[in-house]
Amino acid sequence: MISSLKNVILIQQIQQRKDPNIETMINAKMLELGENSSEIRDLYEYGNKRKAEIGEDKVMDFSLGNPNVPCPERVTRSFIHLLEETGPAALHGYTSAPGYMEVRKAVSEYVNERYGIECEPSDFYMTAGAAASLAIALKSVCNEGNEVIVFAPYFPEYRVFIENAGGVAKEVPVRTEDFQPDFHALKKALGPETAAVIVNSPNNPTGAVLTEESLKELAQVLDHAQARFGNEIILISDEPYRELVYDGIKLALPAHYYDNTIVCYSWSKSLSMPGERIGYIMVSPKAKHRQKIFSAVCGSGRSLGYVCAPALMQYVTAMNLGVTSDLEEYAKNRQLIYDIVTGCGFEAARPDGAFYLFVKSPSGDGKEFSERAKKYELLLVPSDSFGIEGYVRISYCVSREQIERSEEAFRALAADYGLADN
Ligand code: PLP
Repeated sequence: MISSLKNVILIQQIQQRKDPNIETMINAKMLELGENSSEIRDLYEYGNKRKAEIGEDKVMDFSLGNPNVPCPERVTRSFIHLLEETGPAALHGYTSAPGYMEVRKAVSEYVNERYGIECEPSDFYMTAGAAASLAIALKSVCNEGNEVIVFAPYFPEYRVFIENAGGVAKEVPVRTEDFQPDFHALKKALGPETAAVIVNSPNNPTGAVLTEESLKELAQVLDHAQARFGNEIILISDEPYRELVYDGIKLALPAHYYDNTIVCYSWSKSLSMPGERIGYIMVSPKAKHRQKIFSAVCGSGRSLGYVCAPALMQYVTAMNLGVTSDLEEYAKNRQLIYDIVTGCGFEAARPDGAFYLFVKSPSGDGKEFSERAKKYELLLVPSDSFGIEGYVRISYCVSREQIERSEEAFRALAADYGLADN
């Protein structure tokens, strides 16, 4: 009796001493990130709520970039083959930290043949998708307080990864007439603290593709800045939409123009399997400190716990290099949504790649546009979360039927704005 009373008192004393004060218990920045989900996710959840209320077919959700075209049949067969034919120990075991050597070899051979890069297996680090590639790449080149330049609009998670790496995101605008970098602003933003610049072509959220001319100019500006400030500037090329280009456009690859490049790739979009989490980092073989950068990538992967990318997925992708989902479906969706939206009188640049349409708000306010669209059950992401105001993003990786169904709603929305062409 006395001992249990003593225990109660002891517990009370510990509780009082260890004040469960949230700030001292957990990381405030992580708490903030966890409690504030992204605007895109919020809209998606809102869509699910509306679907439950009024019916699936009444809501036109254009919020997420979740591929709707099925994963290729051949890839599905590779899964089955591997599961049936390979011993579970080999299939489900740990791989080397940067990935299976035979997989990295197969990927490097494919990249050499397809893109003429002249890389080695030792330039590749297999990852759990482009998000992991970016988080690792940024942490491997950033020191506390370094600046990382992002071209606005940009994928919102860049800021999260940059800050987690101890860096500071510095926004540089693109030219709104063609969504190519504003080089004048870039030159002003570069400085002795610049550790990296991120490019994303084809782009989320604009659908723009960096032209060869832009990449040449970018390389020139960065080379000049390196010489002027005496530091290496790494170009991080985020390429999850590399295969999604339209109208026969030949995609210009940053690694062909600038030596200090790290490529962040993923098969999420090209093989329609974002949930399987597989991608890679490639340090350009022409990077000045190629091996040191790669070692830092390994260290960064280790420190973030991103080692041994999913083993089964490494095998599956290595067996399907060069294979893609039926990307022609996105080309058809692009034409249809572009015709509907611009036909209603809205202003949008015709996207050259990815599966997004960036539409100007008739009121100049993206949030207001998104809110007003909700009245017609159209879910469009306001551009503020991408670091630019005045637009909405439409993800057209959705069923053809949804796009067709949305025409009436877009017409009603246009009429609401009093657009002339309606
Ligand atoms: N980068 C961009 C520009 C993206 O749009 C996405 C996902 O939508 C990612 C990176 C992350 O890709 P993953 O799903 O392969 O992590």
